[in-house]
Amino acid sequence: MAQHPVIISGAGPVGLVAALSLAQKGIDVVLLEGESHIPEDLRAGTFHPPTVEMLDTLGIGETLRSRAVQVPEWQIRDRKTGLVAQFDLGLIADLTPYPFRLHVEQHKLSNIAYQALQQHTNAKVMYRHRCTGYTQDADGVTVTFDGPDGAGEIRGSYLIGADGARSVVRKTMGTEFEGFTWPERFLVFATPYDLRQQGYTGNAYIADPDEWTAIFIQPHDGNGIWRIAFPIKGDAEDAEVLQPESVQGKIKGFLSPEIDYDIPYKSVYRVHQRVAKNFRDQRVFIAGDAAHVNNPLGGMGLNSGIHDAINLADKIAQVMQNGADDDVLTRYERQRRTVNVEYVQAITIRNKRLLEERDPEVRKERLDEMRATAKDKDAHRQFLINSSMIASVRRANEIA
Ligand SMILES: Cc1cc2nc3c(=O)[nH]c(=O)nc-3n(C[C@H](O)[C@H](O)[C@H](O)COP(=O)(O)OP(=O)(O)OC[C@H]3O[C@@H](n4cnc5c(N)ncnc54)[C@H](O)[C@@H]3O)c2cc1C
Repeated sequence: MAQHPVIISGAGPVGLVAALSLAQKGIDVVLLEGESHIPEDLRAGTFHPPTVEMLDTLGIGETLRSRAVQVPEWQIRDRKTGLVAQFDLGLIADLTPYPFRLHVEQHKLSNIAYQALQQHTNAKVMYRHRCTGYTQDADGVTVTFDGPDGAGEIRGSYLIGADGARSVVRKTMGTEFEGFTWPERFLVFATPYDLRQQGYTGNAYIADPDEWTAIFIQPHDGNGIWRIAFPIKGDAEDAEVLQPESVQGKIKGFLSPEIDYDIPYKSVYRVHQRVAKNFRDQRVFIAGDAAHVNNPLGGMGLNSGIHDAINLADKIAQVMQNGADDDVLTRYERQRRTVNVEYVQAITIRNKRLLEERDPEVRKERLDEMRATAKDKDAHRQFLINSSMIASVRRANEIA
């Protein structure tokens, strides 16, 4: 069979990591990206220990760490009564060289992966080329695109759809995106005001039946900028929610009402919990947000996408270079879809329910459980193994 390149649709962090892994293995790769550059908006910004270890295998972990803030401890708090539980990743230092959450904007990873990709003559990134669909046969896949010179097509051995939540590749596959959309939107904004002054660690989740909050620090000017997320209920227009006085109202209600906070960034977005029914259609695969989306409470979306990319690139290499049986590729779907449902969806939904619980008894019971977990060394360790995604990677490895 003629060997064509692997085509990847989407140069987000997942597409770029998959491309880098394939190129490093000596496989030709063509990356189609609809935009003219790597998007630099503020999105995911938490990397869990197994992800950092995977990025090390590509030789880019150290550069990412040098641009990031390490957060070894994170908290669950109650908006009215304060600290409920503090989790310390130092307790799993025997399981990973990186016992912390690594906080850094996802576009920094994208840029680092893109720079590393430039070293490989077998990798080609085509900006302003938007994938519009595909057809396939026994010998390969034909991917169609719209580019600056009009419509075109390219032939590949395999196609990876890493083209985000609205994936054209997933839609062309025709697989269902199963799950639901949360009724409320999420408002996210950033402030340089240092929340450590008020006893917060670099990452905290604050439970409240009316207005839960999640905070996490990102690197900025050698000091840090704090991203804060709130739920937005009701049907106010996005523009209204983003009015300066509305955003100041949120932060003043949560911190000190006397201070006027500097808010250099703000956005509002809809949040979904969905997993595609299939991750594979013969020579075509989906990975990252194209395959699954979840709420950001726990920082698992992008991490699981990177786990997909590394897993899939290894398997494509096994088939293209070592003549492994085609079932290896279906194992990608079995492993990655299963752990997304069992871990990423389950944990992020549970995290949100914990923060927003309205029933006072259930709420007390859940927060007491968190307190007890943090106090018991074994339970604390097990909780960290799950929340740091070590358990999901172990579970995937067990799936034949
Ligand atoms: C506003 C917002 C805030 C978020 N905040 C958080 C957060 O705080 N924490 C968290 O864990 N996660 C967050 N996420 C989710 C996180 O950003 C994603 O999990 C992550 O970006 C997934 O990476 P990806 O590479 O799979 O997809 P994306 O980052 O979406 O990248 C897809 C790429 O494909 C390109 N593309 C799309 N269609 C085509 C096409 N047809 N042809 C070619 N290229 C195409 C896009 O331009 C883009 O570059 C947020 C998402 C959004 C939208």
